[in-house]
Amino acid sequence: MKILIATDKPFAKVAVDGIRKEIEAAGYELALLEKYTEKAQLLDAVKDVNAIIIRSDIIDAEVLDAAKELKIVVRAGAGYDNVDLEAATAHGVCVMNTPGQNSNAVAELALGMMVYAVRNFYNGTSGTELMGKKLGIHAYGNVGRNVARVAKGFGMEVYAYDAFCPKDVIEKDGVKALDSAEELYKTCQVVSLHIPATAETKNSINYALLKDMPKGAMLVNTARKEVINEAELIKLMEERADFKYLTDIMPAANAEFAEKFAGRYFSTPKKMGAQTAEANINAGIAAAKQIVGFLKDGCEKFRVNK
Ligand code: NAD
Repeated sequence: MKILIATDKPFAKVAVDGIRKEIEAAGYELALLEKYTEKAQLLDAVKDVNAIIIRSDIIDAEVLDAAKELKIVVRAGAGYDNVDLEAATAHGVCVMNTPGQNSNAVAELALGMMVYAVRNFYNGTSGTELMGKKLGIHAYGNVGRNVARVAKGFGMEVYAYDAFCPKDVIEKDGVKALDSAEELYKTCQVVSLHIPATAETKNSINYALLKDMPKGAMLVNTARKEVINEAELIKLMEERADFKYLTDIMPAANAEFAEKFAGRYFSTPKKMGAQTAEANINAGIAAAKQIVGFLKDGCEKFRVNK
């Protein structure tokens, strides 16, 4: 069996070494395609492989057509909107993600951005503290839970809304579970966004939802840019000089945000929530283990295209 790591943004070397160890211990061969610049390179590399480990790399119908021997694709990370699930299912290819492996890294970044914002982007002026502020966690999945854990350490009052997670599961963590996103945004001065990008959630963070946030509102987005209705967020920030937006996923309208909202808008230059050595290693090795489990034992835990 031949396993390919295809990453335009490569894993840390220590993660590749860990993946190699898992793959070779199973008696498989590992191939590496890193920092590729043309899709043609990916199409060529997938020709004879049985499994692929990717990060944010795009796996679409054309790649799946080229990968005649492919059985499984594992996205080392949580979001898998870069894989065409329908096409994968049509090609008989199993798709998995590695949930939870980078959650602490993303949560730490979210809290870091909150501190940065309440301290006025470290501009030398007096700011405020997170302690005592109401934090709303929009989607209580792996990242959301870690944000709750860290935020409690800061002394924040933590609320959450999740469309699918039962309220008693949320409340067991000492977090107040709310009934709707509307209630969450009305209640909390700070909202940390952790919904996946799906047909239902795309553009769902809009003017109607954000306008009722309390004074001194802050939205922190470590999820996806597609869930934000950018035009409506711009309109809201034009109307509300107290509103801050911090994001780990640069908006399409980054230049406009930066120009209009200096001092209350920040974007990382490229998505870096999961960019830690620990998250790299955890997600990469989990991907390798899941591939071995699938190819040897047919284990489909973490399959996302059921
Ligand atoms: P997860 O799958 O563990 O949790 C997602 C949660 O969203 C689940 O609890 C689910 O019930 C909930 N949910 C789904 N649809 C919803 C809706 N319409 N309304 C409310 N809740 C809804 O995922 P995670 O690991 O917590 O990651 C969350 C998202 O963050 C990912 O989908 C990914 O897009 C993004 N992410 C970004 C980075 C980064 O580098 N910035 C890293 C990891 C994840």
